[in-house]
Amino acid sequence: MNTQIYELDDKNIDMDIIKAAAEIIRRNGTVVFPTETVYGLGANALSKDAARSIYEAKGRPSDNPLIVHVSSIDMLLYVIGESLSDKARLLINKFWPGPLTLIFKKSKNIPVEVTSGLDTVAVRMPDNEIALELIKQSGLPIAAPSANISGKPSPTKAEHVINDLNGRVDAILCGSSSRVGVESTILDLSVEVPVILRPGGITFEDLNAVLGEVKIDKGLVSKETVPKAPGMKYTHYAPEADMTIVKGGLNAVADKIMSLAEQYKGQGKKVGILATDETKDRYQADLVISMGSRENMYTAAAGIFDALREFDKQEIDIILAEALSEENIGMAVMNRLKKAAGFNIIEV
Ligand code: AMP
Ligand code: MG
Repeated sequence: MNTQIYELDDKNIDMDIIKAAAEIIRRNGTVVFPTETVYGLGANALSKDAARSIYEAKGRPSDNPLIVHVSSIDMLLYVIGESLSDKARLLINKFWPGPLTLIFKKSKNIPVEVTSGLDTVAVRMPDNEIALELIKQSGLPIAAPSANISGKPSPTKAEHVINDLNGRVDAILCGSSSRVGVESTILDLSVEVPVILRPGGITFEDLNAVLGEVKIDKGLVSKETVPKAPGMKYTHYAPEADMTIVKGGLNAVADKIMSLAEQYKGQGKKVGILATDETKDRYQADLVISMGSRENMYTAAAGIFDALREFDKQEIDIILAEALSEENIGMAVMNRLKKAAGFNIIEV
């Protein structure tokens, strides 16, 4: 397939390009577009054929439903098969457009190919002008999972998308790097106390402040329980390298990582370390990447997937990662790190 690659400036969007991309969406083709979380691989959410082409382009398992992206409340109401609850209204007013996906009963307008057979649909309004213009101009809700090959880290830069999907989609809209850098928070509102199915850009603390009470899906913390968001059961976001997370007091963590690094180097392995600004100078390895300061975990979120891809690019065999605090955005970052490491964690 010949992929059209378009460069766009988010401050001065070329509407001719958006219109051409919107035309592809209307013809049930596939268009990758930037969002504030990660890049999305979009297609018409009202067409089963369009949905199928998303799964095919990504090599995504068909039991992993897609998130539907909307640009207006009218479009949301067309997609969902229920009226808006007070909680939904509150959350939408506060966090949309933004990195919060809400689960609703689906309307008949959404084919089961989009929801993997579920009678619910995941919906959000992205906080990115290119994405919003694409949805508006096509006049259609757009189903879009992350624009990576299934199993790889999510793409937060246009170059990540081009590496994964050039030749597999009709068009790629290249914008700037994703501001948030981890996927949206998924919240299930169908239960008495709302449940976070995936931690993301809107934090537990943010949601608690608005709702008063929020739970976290047990499947995210225990290996024994199956997560309610089908996609969370896959060990994805995974780099090629074997990854270990080291958790504990900062000095003990740094000492343990150094001794493990020496051990692996002795075995002839190429070692990468995922550090923080506070510790990065202590390490010697083939590649040391800082996730930023422990004082601001939003930087870690924005850079985490790029770091994982960089280790692969440099053919690192072993990644040793420092655990981070799980407060605020740290919960989402640690969730992605744990999945990347296949829950391989050493406590010191
Ligand atoms: P991605 O867009 O690649 O970030 O993946 C979408 C995520 O949303 C996956 O983890 C899905 O399992 C989850 N998801 C989509 N629709 C639903 C739904 N109706 N109920 C629960 N989780 C969903
Ligand atoms: Mg994904």
